[in-house]
Amino acid sequence: MRNKLILTICLTALLPVAGVWTAQALAEEQARMTISDNGNALMKVVIAAEHTLPEKTAAEELTVYLKKITGADFQIQKESEFKDDSPALYVGQTAYARRNGVGFTRLGDEEWIVKSDKNNIIITGGHPRGTLYGVYHFLEDNLGVRWWTPQTESVPRNSSLTIERLDRSGKPRFAYRDIYLVGGQGAAEFSARSRLSQNIPKYGGQILFGGPGNCHTMYSFLGKSDEVRKLYQNHPDWFPLMDGVRKLDSIHQDGGAQTQLCLSNPELRKFFVERIRGFIKEDKEKAARQGIQPPMFYAIDQNDCYDGFCKCDKCMEIVKREEAISGLALEFTNYIAESLKNETNATFLMMAEHVLEQPPRLMKALPNVGLRLCDTTSNTIYPWTHSDNTRHRANIDGWSKITNRIVIWDYSIHYGGEFAGINLPFPNERTFAPDLQYLAGHNGCGIFFEHEEMLRGDMRDLKIWLEAKLAENPYLDYRALVKDFTDGFYGAAGDKIREYIALKEKAADKGKAKLTYFPGANAFSYLDCEFVIPAMMMFDEAEKTIGAEPELLKRVRHARLSLDRAFLVKTGTLKSEWKKQGRDEKDFPIDSNQVLVRYKQTWRDACEQKFPAGKFDKARAE
Ligand SMILES: [Zn+2]
Repeated sequence: MRNKLILTICLTALLPVAGVWTAQALAEEQARMTISDNGNALMKVVIAAEHTLPEKTAAEELTVYLKKITGADFQIQKESEFKDDSPALYVGQTAYARRNGVGFTRLGDEEWIVKSDKNNIIITGGHPRGTLYGVYHFLEDNLGVRWWTPQTESVPRNSSLTIERLDRSGKPRFAYRDIYLVGGQGAAEFSARSRLSQNIPKYGGQILFGGPGNCHTMYSFLGKSDEVRKLYQNHPDWFPLMDGVRKLDSIHQDGGAQTQLCLSNPELRKFFVERIRGFIKEDKEKAARQGIQPPMFYAIDQNDCYDGFCKCDKCMEIVKREEAISGLALEFTNYIAESLKNETNATFLMMAEHVLEQPPRLMKALPNVGLRLCDTTSNTIYPWTHSDNTRHRANIDGWSKITNRIVIWDYSIHYGGEFAGINLPFPNERTFAPDLQYLAGHNGCGIFFEHEEMLRGDMRDLKIWLEAKLAENPYLDYRALVKDFTDGFYGAAGDKIREYIALKEKAADKGKAKLTYFPGANAFSYLDCEFVIPAMMMFDEAEKTIGAEPELLKRVRHARLSLDRAFLVKTGTLKSEWKKQGRDEKDFPIDSNQVLVRYKQTWRDACEQKFPAGKFDKARAE
């Protein structure tokens, strides 16, 4: 502001005849609004007399961050008590916004508007989350606030804050945006500020999944383990005919069971409908009690196994007609959805995992049925449009002709031995934007990133942030996002981190790696000397550029955690590769002990930050 004024004055002095220039500069000055001057608030935050809890949160978040930016105290005032015509930030469904042409009834539940007139700024939106999203977009896009991780944010400091005239609006591309698991200290706030779907009243949340759980619900709708066993004794024909016998997994009678149900059985179907009817009633009451939206979905899910479906004549008739087992599951889901269509606005979301991923040939889903398609076949380092991923792409294409509500269950980590995350470096950052764009073009209504491993997932901080941003808007510029994060979060090391990501991509491409969600350790073909050694050097350089900034150092070291892990897991292989190339082991450029010490320290630092003692003792112990 001050620099610009000086520039305007200089131009006026130097170019007395260039009246156009001066007028334009002055017009620009007048087009800016002053929010604070030298630490004094010049605007009030005005909220409708009748406002909702999330609108109150929106006004509070706005004042908290305006204070952080400017140092000034911004008061929140009710519109009914705001009598003067001094400049104001009108937050929520105010009479002022209505007088200025905002039609609230037309706004979707997450739709937001940020606009200004001569003196005032209007931030508003649909109920329940629109206004809150408007505030977050204003803070992020216009004032430069960033919520990088649940524990870290950047807030620009500027005691004299001006802003250009505004006229913006938007809504998330997908209704359902979920990352399992953000986790740790500050996760709830981060999820809300990142516009992820959540169920917290003050952030205008929604019950995401009603009923007994959010996945693998086939048995949990029937009840607890002992109830499932009792039902099996009393109604064996509700359970799948496998190898000529009606079967129940003798070890697990829950979502982990290796058996499903006889989905064509009419009694079972009626029983299921009654069970869900009970949950619908309970969930509505629960939502009303908490002041949040009733469920978005009921998960009509298979148990978590490869097959386990019934082979009785009636079930097989449907399977044969549809040339896919998914036809059987869809017919079951359609039956439930049709029976309960007048009792809930929720979508009955059928899961398609493993043998169900392939779509049926003839059937269509009813309008209140959606499909949650797991991706257990893709090479995770490439987008779905890559030639390695034709099977998953064909599944999406097929299902998009059957339902207009597709959620993808995507894997951002790998599973391996004993179901532990493998946590080795792998380049999937570049897949998020093209995949979500593909989903948007194929009846997508949601994305679920399976992304636990809260401490040691590969480049976790960056990946979670990208996932949240692109789930809201898949058409954002991926390169710009990566630059924004790496410069903002890693400071001077940003360049080196980007070089590392590029190196990781190049190495995986060259190594022709194929990494499904469940790869063997040998599938990481590129974790050789040619990649690991320069990558380690790159991180050494990155650490040097930071200098004496312990907080930045911790962030960079957390980014290299999976590389350090790769080195430690593969030290022997890397050293013998080194020797095979005719080189002396004593010249091997990386000191294993140093890596081990760093790895342990990084782990401790990350644990300390994400799971502070007292509140997260269980997570710390793990
Ligand atoms: Zn059957």
